[in-house]
Order: sequence, then C-alpha cells, then structure tokens
Amino acid sequence: MNRISHWIDGQVVESTSGRSAPVYNPATGEQTGAVDLASVDEVATAVAAAKAAFPEWRATSLSRRAEIMFRLRELVDANRKEIARLLTAEHGKVLSDSLGEVARGLENIEYACGVPQLIKGEYSEQASSGVDVYSIRQPLGVVAGITPFNFPAMVPMWMFANALACGNTFVLKPSEKDPSVNMFVAELLAQAGLPAGCFNIVQGDKVAVDAILEHDDVAAVSFVGSTPIAKYIYETGTKQGKRVQALGGAKNHMLVLNDADLDMAADAAVSAAYGSAGERCMAISVVLAADEIADDLVAKIANRIPAIQVGAGDDPDSEMGPLITGEHRDKVAGYIDRATADGATMVVDGREGAPGEGYFLKPTLLDNVEPGMACYDDEIFGPVLSIKRVAGYQDGLDTINASPFANGTAIFTRDGGAARQFQFDVEVGMVGVNVPVPVPVSYYSFGGWKASLFGDTHMYGPEGINFYTQAKVVTSRWPDPATSSIDLGFPETR
Ligand code: NAD
Repeated sequence: MNRISHWIDGQVVESTSGRSAPVYNPATGEQTGAVDLASVDEVATAVAAAKAAFPEWRATSLSRRAEIMFRLRELVDANRKEIARLLTAEHGKVLSDSLGEVARGLENIEYACGVPQLIKGEYSEQASSGVDVYSIRQPLGVVAGITPFNFPAMVPMWMFANALACGNTFVLKPSEKDPSVNMFVAELLAQAGLPAGCFNIVQGDKVAVDAILEHDDVAAVSFVGSTPIAKYIYETGTKQGKRVQALGGAKNHMLVLNDADLDMAADAAVSAAYGSAGERCMAISVVLAADEIADDLVAKIANRIPAIQVGAGDDPDSEMGPLITGEHRDKVAGYIDRATADGATMVVDGREGAPGEGYFLKPTLLDNVEPGMACYDDEIFGPVLSIKRVAGYQDGLDTINASPFANGTAIFTRDGGAARQFQFDVEVGMVGVNVPVPVPVSYYSFGGWKASLFGDTHMYGPEGINFYTQAKVVTSRWPDPATSSIDLGFPETR
C-alpha cells in the first residue's frame, strides 16, 4: 500500500505522529494508500524550513525566479498525463477532466513567469523639490495554502505559483482525500531549480490546519474549501494577525430567458451540472427557467442525460466519474431521497442504475424546486441539477440575489441588453454570459461574494500578486550638500 508522507526542506519526510488516514480509489472503493497526518511539531518543522529558506529566496533576482517558473512550466507541460493519472486515481474524475484541471493550473504558472513585470512599483520624480517617491512590493515571508479535494492539482497552483514568484516561501496542506499529486508536483518544483525549503507539504487534517493558523511565523493563509471551514479559517487566522483569503462553497444559478437558444442552454446546463460529478465550486446546481420555455428546457435536459457515460475515470469512454467517498455519495443520495417529499418533482433519478462498486451516482434532475427545500438551500456538491421556474428576468435576478452564496452565475439569452443589465445587477463574483462555468483566466482573479469568500482579496491574477506582497513607499532626497541647512518646520509638499 502506498504511503503518502510530507515534503519538507526538499525531501520526503515520513511522519512520526502515529496518525494516518486511508486514501481510496473512488471508482472501486478500494483503499490504495494511507496518508500521514501531521502533528503540531511536524507543521512547526515545515514552517521552520520555509522560514530558513526565505532570506535567500527573497534576495534571489526576479530573473532567476522567473526562470524557475519557466522551467516549472515546461516540466508540468511535459508531465500533464502523469499528473492527470495521479489525480484521477485518487479523486475519481475522468482523465479528460483531469487534463483540463492541469491546463487551468498551468495557466497560473505561466502568469507567474511574468513576475518581473507584475511586481513593478511606481516612481514619482520631484514629488517635492528634490524629493522622489516610489513604491515597491515585497514578499510577506512564510505563507500557507490549505486546499480542497475537488481540484487537488489546480487549486495549489492558484496559490504557490504567484506566492513563490513574489519571493515568499510556501507550506501547503492539501486535502487528505487525494494527497499524492502534490508530492509529484513538489519533485517538479525541485527539478525546476527551486531551492530546498521554499516549498513544503504537510499532509494532515484539522490538527495541521490549526497548527498553521496558530503559528507565529506564518504570515498569510490562502484557503479554498467549504463555507463553514472558510469562515473558521478567516476568523481564526485574522485573529492571529495573519492576512487571510478564504474561499468557500457555492450554489450557482443559470438563468435561461425566453429568447435563449434552448439546445445550447441544455448542452451547457448538462455539462456544467454533471461535469466532474458536480464536484466543482463553479458547477451549475440550479437552472432558473423562464416559465414560457421551462417545459421545453426540462425535456431537452432530461433527453440528454441517458447518453452520459458514467464509469471509472481511467476508462476513456467515461464522461462522469464517481464521487469522492462513500460517505459523500450517501450524503448526496440523501438529498435526492427527501426531494420529492419536500415538494420537488423527480425527472431523472440518479440513484438508479449506478455502477455497483465504487462511489457512483448517476445524474439526477429535479424540477419545481423552491427555496426552503434542502436540495435548493444546501450546496449538494454532487450530480444533482435542480430546476426552479421563474416568471422572467426580474424574478430570476431576485432569486439569485437572495442566495447566501455568490460564487458564479450565468445568463443564457440572445438579448445583449438583458445580458448587460444582468452583469450590472447581479450580486455574484463571477458572471457568465452564455458561458455556464465562468472561471476567470489566470490574468484576472477568481473569487465569489457573500458566503463564497471571506476576506477582501480574490485568488490568483493581479489580486493574487497583491495578496502575496506588501507595499512599501519610499520618500527619498539626495540633496546637494551645498544647499544643506537646518529647518525645524514640517515641510509643505509644494
Ligand atoms: P473542506 O472544507 O471539507 O476541506 C478543505 C480543507 O480544509 C481541507 O484541506 C481539509 O483538510 C480542511 N478541513 C476540513 N475540515 C476542517 C476543520 N474542521 N478544521 C480545519 N480544517 C479543516 O472542503 P472539501 O470537501 O475538501 O472541498 C469541497 C468544498 O470546497 C465545496 O464546498 C466547494 O464549493 C469548495 N470549493 C470552493 C472553491 C472556491 O473557489 N470558492 C473551489 C473549490 C472548492
């Protein structure tokens, strides 16, 4: 059985905590590995390694840091298939989806290659007579990333690429459910020339997370995961004086207006609801269908579902894999179990016909779903799509804006004016216009509003650079010694 340990100071370090957690192949239900769970002392060892590496790394030239990012870019590119294979083996998502995840993670490494340009400061000559003022951005020190199971390769790349390029050193606490892929990425970072200690991994659970939050030498924490934990991380981390960005859960709505192309909307809803078995924070979980077209749209979505190939992620014919654990599969099935009693209409029941072994459910479609039902109110995080019928634009908009979650949303329409008004009105962080999963490219930033993000800084892109650096402003005078005199006044700027 595969043992998955820590990566500290440039090498694999086995835990002596005596604690571990099982790792499964979700397509078979077999245990394939055991991941070490760090003790408080082991977290301290990783932070100490990162702290020791920081002075030299922050003094490393921008061109050298960019060169290492370029090399990492080449190595990740060359190893896409291996990263995807490792990812599928523990997460379960289909290989094509894993390759997409690697590609979207790689974008962030490409962005970080531009660090010399991204980190440039400003300069004002002659702000006052003989006085120049300029700003510089400096790294924070040791920063930590705590990541979820659903994008085990991409989400760490959202964080460490910019953090390292900006001159910080990094401690990653990946999800304990699919921990292997980052051990491979750590080796690629070392091959790219990153000095030992700059990137560290502590495997673990709440013990490791709390040790990170309480460690005085951790300057900042980036978190992605569920809303209750995101809130906990934000509150605990900021109380300890750390800079924190904590991205939480979601319930993303897709509003389909009367004039939309219904075939295109149905294709988009099916892709965005059932891709990765619905285990995406940007998955569509509710379609708001305008009354006039709702029957047609529900029929078109329902007609597409039987063709979806559900099976093991490493089978090239599969389009949708299993859920992450048996416990999570049962939780998702629980929402389907009670939906009709709560008043929803079952259109397609995904509990029927799923492969026998492994943690599978097939796609489920529920109609006439309303706020107040558990299947509407909660983030299900599985292949369950709900339809709520709405009177039109305003009713749809009001529904979206009443949700406590505000990660992503989309509008499907041929009316450019309605789409533009939606972009103006909707209280959500990421908006798609005829695009169901509007994950921003790496040179914009990713983040929701309300209960989908705690903190004021979004992830990656320009806001990521901002998060991983602190500003310093220098006011400087190099006087001509001949003009020097004593002046006890407070100088006016002019
Ligand atoms: P999770 O919140 O259970 O776990 C996330 C991380 O927190 C893991 O590393 C885990 O070990 C740790 N953790 C779990 N319980 C903890 C506790 N009690 N105390 C301290 N740390 C704890 O999330 P998950 O199930 O791994 O991932 C799915 C969730 O992540 C979904 O809610 C999804 O919407 C969300 N997500 C959000 C985004 C986003 O960008 N907003 C992206 C991906 C996933």
